[in-house]
Amino acid sequence: MTTQARQPNVPHVGAAVPMLDLRAQHASLASEIRAVMDALLDSQHWILGAEGTALEQELAHFLGARFAAGVASGTDALMLALYAAGVSAGDDVVLPAFTFIATASAVSALGARPVLVDIEPETFAIDPQRIESRITPKTTAIIAVHLFGHAAEMDPILEIGKRRGIPVIEDNAQSIGAVYRGRKTGAMGAFGCLSFYPTKNLGAYGDGGMILTNSEEDVERLRRLRNHGQEDRYSSRERGWNSRLDEVQAAILRVKLRHLPAWTTARRRHAKQYGELLRDLPGIRVPIERGDCEHVYSVYTIRVEGGAQRREKIQRHLAARGIGSMIYYPIPLHLQPAYRALGVARGELPDSERAADEVLSLPMFAELTEDQIARVAETLSEAVRQ
Ligand SMILES: *Cc1c(COP(=O)(O)O)cnc(C)c1O
Repeated sequence: MTTQARQPNVPHVGAAVPMLDLRAQHASLASEIRAVMDALLDSQHWILGAEGTALEQELAHFLGARFAAGVASGTDALMLALYAAGVSAGDDVVLPAFTFIATASAVSALGARPVLVDIEPETFAIDPQRIESRITPKTTAIIAVHLFGHAAEMDPILEIGKRRGIPVIEDNAQSIGAVYRGRKTGAMGAFGCLSFYPTKNLGAYGDGGMILTNSEEDVERLRRLRNHGQEDRYSSRERGWNSRLDEVQAAILRVKLRHLPAWTTARRRHAKQYGELLRDLPGIRVPIERGDCEHVYSVYTIRVEGGAQRREKIQRHLAARGIGSMIYYPIPLHLQPAYRALGVARGELPDSERAADEVLSLPMFAELTEDQIARVAETLSEAVRQ
């Protein structure tokens, strides 16, 4: 009998740590999900029913807003919120250059122009100091994105909006449950937009989104706009869209919402462990949480100083050892081919460009174990030192 020595540097299959494991989450919920699916199969009520209405109430309550309207995706939530805020073709909408493309495509879908503003390096969110110089007579909305799970600096942004008479819309697709100075994100601006894309902290089993507002008039209008502008059946008061959240997704989201606070607690615990293990690594910066904020870590994003090449080397080292990682986002919006026509050159938004070159997101989901986090940290420190 021969014994084969384990070779160094050959990844051990069991040691893999994925970026995200949705199957682990489903396994913990399977019987609850099956029960609500069975009830829906019996009812055969799929669109605009009791589940959707209940989810709207539960989420509005959870986030401290008065009302909510379910829609078909986070992108539609942004587009409908912008439309309800009065944005139309030819307008300018201010938003950060470092975000997921959907923040801008919702603006473009209405024929409006994204006006891109640089970010604060610590939170990756729009820099309030840089907003006002970009406001024109055509500016009809400001979008603040709460990126990666941390709130944008809302008070000065809301102050600008109020003083200039411009509505502020929160893109809260990544930060459900995050706190800014005692308030939950998504409930501070004129509208707050949520995404239930499966990988978000509250993910559906398909697409979905929601708009939060404190205005009864606005929520009634949004409920018409998502359903062909109809007030009563076959009577449309204004032109609308087909953008409804279906009952299957609403029922699943109601089950998951009950677990969300515990998942957020777990994510925060994981982030603390990562922080302790990674804080002192040379050339690595761990994410910060401002004193008056609560981060919900939709992703755990470090910065690799020294730029994209060093980051690529580190990412390859991790991948060879079965450790997942992702770059959210490698290209800021002004350098995306789709937005070349905006005419913003490289170098004009330096903090967004630097972020795109330095960010690296590590595995983060509630079911991660302490051992897995230790393994990620150990592999990362090898990569950094080599
Ligand atoms: C996911 C996301 C969206 C879009 O949500 P969808 O549900 O995928 O349409 C918008 N903005 C940000 C910041 C996101 O992360």
